[in-house]
Amino acid sequence: MDCTFCAIITGALPTRFVYQDEHACAFLDINPLRAGHTLVVPRLHVQNLMDPGAPAVLGSIGAALHATARLLTTRLPAGGVSVLQANGVAAGQEVFHLHFHLVPRLAGDRRLSDHTPDEQARRTLDATYRMLVD
Ligand code: AMP
Ligand code: ZN
Repeated sequence: MDCTFCAIITGALPTRFVYQDEHACAFLDINPLRAGHTLVVPRLHVQNLMDPGAPAVLGSIGAALHATARLLTTRLPAGGVSVLQANGVAAGQEVFHLHFHLVPRLAGDRRLSDHTPDEQARRTLDATYRMLVD
C-alpha cells in the first residue's frame, strides 16, 4: 500500500513527531496554515470517516487529540486550536489515511478558510518543532 502517513508511522519517511502513543502519533504538517499546524494520525490505516474501520480507530485517538491540543496551547503563543478534517476527494482530502489537522489560533486571527500555507510558518518549521519537542 502506498500511503505517506503509513510510511511516516513505520519510520520509512522522516517527520517531525511532537507526540506519540500506542494508538496514534502527531507530527508537524509540511505545509502549515499557521506555525505549529500539526496532524494527529491513528497508527492503524483507515481511509477516512466513511471507512468501516473508522469507529474503532476514532475511539482510540482521544488521548492523542487532547495531548496535542494541550501541547500546542502551552508551548506556543496560541490561545486556542482549530480542528480541520477532510473526508473524500470532494472534501479536499489529499492523504487517504484518516487524520485531524490541529491549527493553533490567536484571538483576532484571520480566517482559515483559504487554506493557504503560511510562508513564515513554513520557513520556521524547525524552530517551531524545537518549541514542541525537548
Ligand atoms: P488533507 O488530506 O487534505 O487533509 O491534507 C493532507 C495534509 O498532509 C496536507 O496539509 C499536507 O501538507 C500534509 N502532508 C502531506 N505529506 C506530508 C508529510 N510527508 N509530512 C507532513 N505533512 C504532510
Ligand atoms: Zn496509511
